[in-house]
Amino acid sequence: MQIFFPKEETNEIRATILPEVAKKFIDLGIEVTIESGLGDKVFIADDLYAEVGARICPEGNEGFKTADVICKINKPNANQVSELKKDSIFISFLDPFNESDLVAELASANVSSISMELVPRITRAQKMDALSSQANLAGYSAVIEASRTLSKSFPMMMTAAGTISPARVFVVGVGVAGLQAIATAKRLGARVEAFDTRPVVEEQVKSLGAKFVKIDIGETEETEQGYAKELTSEQIKMQQEGMKKICSQSDVIITTAQVFGRPAPRIITQDMVDAMQPGSVIVDMAVATGGNVEGSKNDEYVFHNGITIIGMSNLPGEVARDASQVFGNNLYNMIEEFWDKEQKSLNFDLEDEILKGCVITHQGEVVNEAIK
Ligand code: NAD
Repeated sequence: MQIFFPKEETNEIRATILPEVAKKFIDLGIEVTIESGLGDKVFIADDLYAEVGARICPEGNEGFKTADVICKINKPNANQVSELKKDSIFISFLDPFNESDLVAELASANVSSISMELVPRITRAQKMDALSSQANLAGYSAVIEASRTLSKSFPMMMTAAGTISPARVFVVGVGVAGLQAIATAKRLGARVEAFDTRPVVEEQVKSLGAKFVKIDIGETEETEQGYAKELTSEQIKMQQEGMKKICSQSDVIITTAQVFGRPAPRIITQDMVDAMQPGSVIVDMAVATGGNVEGSKNDEYVFHNGITIIGMSNLPGEVARDASQVFGNNLYNMIEEFWDKEQKSLNFDLEDEILKGCVITHQGEVVNEAIK
């Protein structure tokens, strides 16, 4: 079996795999080909992949035509899909809820596609969960970016020249990214508060030494997989009312609120932004799925009345080497789980709970229940 790792698009810093992960694939008995330049942006030259036994193919679409399995971080473009060989397997983040044309193209090209977003949240699949591996690093990067932008220090400092008070950080949405944002802000010495609609989160917030903000918004639900369900518009209003004061007192707000498969909830209104002190910073981590903050823009820093709203869609890319390492491990763990040592091929069993969750197209059809 031959597996191909193409270079990402020009705006992506991460590489799909690092050489140490390439070696793990090779040790399984898989032929690994990488497109020349795959690791350039994380300072890994082609030679280092070649040293572990990977074949380097020249830049261009050659690798797409011959590989049995193709792995990327970001979704393929139409040109790349048209190059894929029949019955090959394509694995990447595919954004299948929004990319219906791409899903149809993959089906009609007879490609079996796996969406990394849809790996189910069960214990056996945790090692393949790329949403979590990337969200964790994104949470860290969001705080580092906010600390760079804020004109105050995060920790309290008692000096002969006076006492500097700690920065106040408010984290809205405490999933994987939010938890890491809290932990990072705490490590930097900030005073951290957090809110989430799922009450189970309160204990986790407290265990990190942060304060959980209680807001009564009535009944809330979560899915079997631990994702929050969408709030009603009345509940969002109650949430906004309950958050107003704390937002106005915060130096930094980090929003991470997501509702799986739906646009992100709009939580921070223009009024709430206007009530913050000039010099404050907001990081909208949901900017790519619609944004939690009124006025945030994808991949832009918006300056509004002295307040900076950061809308970086690729925060894991700020720590690209680590993000590449863990993404590659997620891919390896998935392929190793379904690798048939005797047949030297992937056991594509659609009855398996993991594959049932994340395979989108197979044998010319859309097979995923959620996407259908
Ligand atoms: P996510 O990215 O879907 O959402 C981020 C957070 O936003 C969630 O905590 C959600 O409750 C919250 N949110 C939604 N609407 C909100 C609103 N209006 N206001 C405030 N917060 C709002 O979530 P995630 O990071 O993918 O994680 C969801 C849960 O799943 C977490 O508890 C996480 O620990 C758990 N998880 C479990 C596994 C597993 O394998 N068992 C793997 C990964 C994550």
